[in-house]
Amino acid sequence: MRADLHTHTTASDGTLSPRELVREARAVGLQVLAVTDHDTVDGIAEAVDEAERLGLELVPGVELSTDVPGSEVHILGYFVDWRSQSFGTFLRHLRDGRLARAHEMVRRLNQLGVPLTLEELVQQADGAVGRPHVARALVAAGYVASFEEAFSRYLARGRPAYVERERFTPEEAVEAVLRAGGVPVFAHPLWGGERDRVARLAERGLVGIEAYYPDHAPQDVRRFLQWAEEFGLVATGGSDYHGPGPASRAPLGSVYVPPGAVDALRAARERARG
Ligand SMILES: [Zn+2]
Ligand SMILES: [Zn+2]
Repeated sequence: MRADLHTHTTASDGTLSPRELVREARAVGLQVLAVTDHDTVDGIAEAVDEAERLGLELVPGVELSTDVPGSEVHILGYFVDWRSQSFGTFLRHLRDGRLARAHEMVRRLNQLGVPLTLEELVQQADGAVGRPHVARALVAAGYVASFEEAFSRYLARGRPAYVERERFTPEEAVEAVLRAGGVPVFAHPLWGGERDRVARLAERGLVGIEAYYPDHAPQDVRRFLQWAEEFGLVATGGSDYHGPGPASRAPLGSVYVPPGAVDALRAARERARG
């Protein structure tokens, strides 16, 4: 069975509509496709509809961006109840809060004579716009010489473009996915996936870890498979496909997904729902 468990559509920062993505999945011979847009389930209805038409299994999903010191952790949620009104409201609050903060950072930078626009930032961000994206944009546009200088001059706490925000932690993301009846999985653990953090999240209900991912070298995969074994997690995989073009790290369906991963995730959901 061929599957891809990590993809994005135009509902977040992908370039294919949900319908187009499902068609491409079908064309490359996938039997199972998970749609996991950043902080939204708005693309799921259309994807489900097209998948039913084409006889493909669609796993409804989401990818939540969370904040950890100095980095970001992404938590995938599979089989979430995407029709749930309370989950929809929760996601909307998450998006609104981030956008408002990005907006305020841009406003302050503009006042300081740095003519960055929100559009530029949104284009560069993989998902929610945070300080790292602003820092990279400042470097790219030549306003500062380095990522570090962007923080020390503008973005660090106490600097003029710093905007306070509410932290959304990986623990909270795991809880949110569980509350929505879904199965939480640690995405691309090269980012923020320290052993202790994975262990802690496993105790809080994390079900899987995305061991197979385009950026993972063989030794990374081995390490994550070992953690999966140790902490009782399902090893998953996905391409993080964002549509044709430079936004994608790898072609759709090109990343290994262990056989049985989808069944194991489904079983975890059934157990959780009693
Ligand atoms: Zn991600
Ligand atoms: Zn992603």
